[in-house]
Amino acid sequence: MSKKSPKDGDIIVTGDYLGVVEEFLPDKQSTFTKEGKIYATKTGLITVDNKERKIEISTHQEKDRKVVKIGDTVIGVILFLRLYSVGISFYTINKKIHFNSNYFGNIHVSQISDKYVEKIHDAFQITDIVRARVVQQEYNEYKLSTTGKHLGVIYADCVICGNPLSKIGYNKLKCERCGNVESRKLANDYGNVTNNLRF
Ligand SMILES: [Zn+2]
Repeated sequence: MSKKSPKDGDIIVTGDYLGVVEEFLPDKQSTFTKEGKIYATKTGLITVDNKERKIEISTHQEKDRKVVKIGDTVIGVILFLRLYSVGISFYTINKKIHFNSNYFGNIHVSQISDKYVEKIHDAFQITDIVRARVVQQEYNEYKLSTTGKHLGVIYADCVICGNPLSKIGYNKLKCERCGNVESRKLANDYGNVTNNLRF
């Protein structure tokens, strides 16, 4: 008996066969296991995490969830800098815009880059817009990371005159108006992110 396993994003109906336990780590809320075989206990879209071998079924509503989970990608604005961390208010969660979100995260200096970062302000400044990954949750606060090419600052203004900064090299930005040069931990698409994320 060979049944095909579902692909990520497939529509699943309650009772559908999903695979075997040797193949997947089934989610307790949306599947049940009988004699080593996994079946759906609800109707919705399946998420297949190929790295962790996890499967989970969620409805469209849940896909639009406003709850932040570990592994999510968030975009937010830097509200403040501390000696060893920054505070971020989230604008978007998994590409969905959540203005007025009350979510708040912070990035510790050790989670900024694969490379050693000595001072927070070499990587971020207040009002920078940053893309980060959620790595841990502690009560209402989320610990974020910007290690990886796609993560880091996606938009920054000059700290002196407020003009948008242009990328001039690896983690280097320059203000075309006043000539000020600053460093940041940049995402690889710095400057290509649409303006509507700013406000
Ligand atoms: Zn300037």
